[in-house]
Amino acid sequence: MPQRPKLLLVGQLSTLPWVFDAADRAGIDLILVLRGDDTPEAAARAAAVVEVLPLDIDGDQEAALAVLSDRYRREPFGGIMAGNEKVVPFVARAARELGLPGLTDQAAAVVRDKRRMRRLLREAGLGTPGFTVLDDPDGWTDALALRFPVVVKPANGFSSLGVIRVDDKDDLKQAVARTWELVETHLRSADAPAEEAGVLVEEYLDGPEISAESLIHHGKVRVCAISWKGELTGPYFEETTLRAPARLPAEVLAAVEAEVIAAHHAFGLTEGTTHTELRLVGGIRPVLLETGARIGGGGFMHYLVHVSSGIDLAAEALRVHLGLEPLCWSEEPVPTGVAAAYLVPVGTGGRISGVRGLEAVREDPRVDHVVETVGPGALLRPYPDWSGYPAIVLSRHTSDAEAVAYRDHLASTLHVAYEEERS
Ligand code: ADP
Ligand code: CA
Repeated sequence: MPQRPKLLLVGQLSTLPWVFDAADRAGIDLILVLRGDDTPEAAARAAAVVEVLPLDIDGDQEAALAVLSDRYRREPFGGIMAGNEKVVPFVARAARELGLPGLTDQAAAVVRDKRRMRRLLREAGLGTPGFTVLDDPDGWTDALALRFPVVVKPANGFSSLGVIRVDDKDDLKQAVARTWELVETHLRSADAPAEEAGVLVEEYLDGPEISAESLIHHGKVRVCAISWKGELTGPYFEETTLRAPARLPAEVLAAVEAEVIAAHHAFGLTEGTTHTELRLVGGIRPVLLETGARIGGGGFMHYLVHVSSGIDLAAEALRVHLGLEPLCWSEEPVPTGVAAAYLVPVGTGGRISGVRGLEAVREDPRVDHVVETVGPGALLRPYPDWSGYPAIVLSRHTSDAEAVAYRDHLASTLHVAYEEERS
């Protein structure tokens, strides 16, 4: 019997099922490197995990690489894949040293840095807003030359943490100081070089937001699905809903695809899977916000792609990282419906006691997944700070209109209860 392929998955949170279930479907065994907030108990319950490898990537990278090489020499595995944004450069380096498929170190560094992405897009003649890179909080005056409104954001953030829209020049100094403070508290590791931190100010792109999930194999890019995120006007940018496929005119979809593919070439992304966010300026002109070299949303973007396009994104991503050609390169998949994601908003924040209304949601036949991402007692910080989503609901529908109606229903029936409210 041929041996099952084995892949080392780094930092994929094991309480989120999509990538693990995909490995199971694809007949791939996983060696899991736990994220700091994951537990061996949760990993033991996840599908397809045959081994947990302790690895301290945040601490000593050289030591982590040595452990990884030892494990590889004992019994080789066929691939290595990043399960979150932060480990992308480490995974690229490990793949190179072990001779496994992966990104170049340079491409991995590019997609971890919004400053580098902006510069490369501009050099490639692709859409990009005016922007200013700040190396210290006092540099904010440099950004006064931009066209307002602007958006202040960390150069290497996630989940809209520290992202603030500023309409008025008088408010810029304070917003930059706030973002800087959040960078120092949450995004900068103690031993990181100063240039790793940093803040970007860019002109506000006025128009709805979309996302594009792609697969890349031997340099060929396929945009698998385009999802609609809708109007997010700020001042903070908490994501609450996504639907796929995005209902857009064919020529706009084609323009999005062309922009995303060109950006992949500009960034040097040659292997793997990506999550790209864009704004449609004036409702029609795609301008990239950022690309991450991983499955978006801790894996839930897989669900939107799978339902709306038929492409088993997570399984295909695992295959690409094993050096195999994606099945959708040779077989045209069939969509099965309209997919929706609803992220219960954090609201005021506080110590969470629970999400009210989820019982009925779990019983709705249209709902495939309800994930409570944080347990009772966890502290959720409100935007522009961020520490976690209370819950995610993934559902399938027969039309976009039905998905919108269900989103409105969820928004009016679900609410986060915080401990303070009970006293
Ligand atoms: P993060 O890594 O925190 O997700 P993003 O660059 O994706 O950083 O910004 C988070 C959100 O802020 C985006 O999804 C978008 O809604 C908003 N945003 C960021 N930059 C801009 C911009 N230039 N114009 C309009 N909205 C923006
Ligand atoms: Ca983003």
